[in-house]
Amino acid sequence: MLLNIALHGIETAVGVRYLPTGWVRADSPVLIRYADDFVVHCHTRQDAIEIKARLASWLAPRGLAFNEDKTRVVTLDEGFDFLGFNVRRYRHKPLIKPSKAAVRRIRERLRQEVWSLRGTNAPAVIKRLNPIIRGWAAYYRTQVSARIFSALDNYLWRLIYKWAVISHSNRPKRWLIARYFGRFNKARQDRWVFGDRTSGAYLHKFAWTNIIRHQIVKHGASTDDPDLTEYWARRRRRTPLPINQTTRRLLAAQDGRCAICNDTLYAEGQPASAHEWEQWLHNARTRITVQAPSTPEADYRLIHTDCHHGSRPAPLHTQTPQGLA
Ligand SMILES: [Zn+2]
Repeated sequence: MLLNIALHGIETAVGVRYLPTGWVRADSPVLIRYADDFVVHCHTRQDAIEIKARLASWLAPRGLAFNEDKTRVVTLDEGFDFLGFNVRRYRHKPLIKPSKAAVRRIRERLRQEVWSLRGTNAPAVIKRLNPIIRGWAAYYRTQVSARIFSALDNYLWRLIYKWAVISHSNRPKRWLIARYFGRFNKARQDRWVFGDRTSGAYLHKFAWTNIIRHQIVKHGASTDDPDLTEYWARRRRRTPLPINQTTRRLLAAQDGRCAICNDTLYAEGQPASAHEWEQWLHNARTRITVQAPSTPEADYRLIHTDCHHGSRPAPLHTQTPQGLA
């Protein structure tokens, strides 16, 4: 928050120029800021170097400085990492996908989690891993993530298989597969889903998360820069929530409100990182209940779990992304 206040006015320092219509002028640099991370799209390398120097002298009296390790001047063809994404121009089109570092981090996280789950049972594995998978997929479910999603599913499958082998070292492969893998998700033609035969619970797959395609709009004869600005702006707006169809339908029918107390079920604003999504999904699961109809004519209702138990709660909060300029 302090940093947000300190960085107020940075647009002027960058020299962003607007048209009377409110659009950034085609010949102006474009600033995209997210908390203390920002990108400035410039038209030439020379512009970029000058703006960086100007920003450095603007930051200094405010007691701030560039983190030189993280600050680079690159062409869009070379690409750069921003907020866990890699942004690059490929065959004249902006390409935005999870960065290599972000993929490396989630793989490492999965590896450690599965390792720490040795000696537990299938329900414990499912309970621990599903929010991680869903959270990560919810944050990165845009653009060209589909191949990365299936690669992560393959990686996780191997980890889980190894987990099963370690859990039952004396059992043959066929027994392990019959016990833990099957078509648990009836909506999918996938026999290789990890699940628990007793409860029917199963492990979610990254690739099951719907990819949202943000239409990248061309603004006249402008460069790619405003396209990318548009992309980040769209991300900030509300996109479909990663919830099941029943919940989505009830949410729309109830205008986003609890059927008992009439307070909002989900607060405005969406999580701004994979970790926040993980938390959001956890809260959604524990704090919101789908209530079965009491009569045959009635429909299901969405309510706060606490309202169900008789105490009135606050709405589910998500952290609102700050200061995306
Ligand atoms: Zn309620």
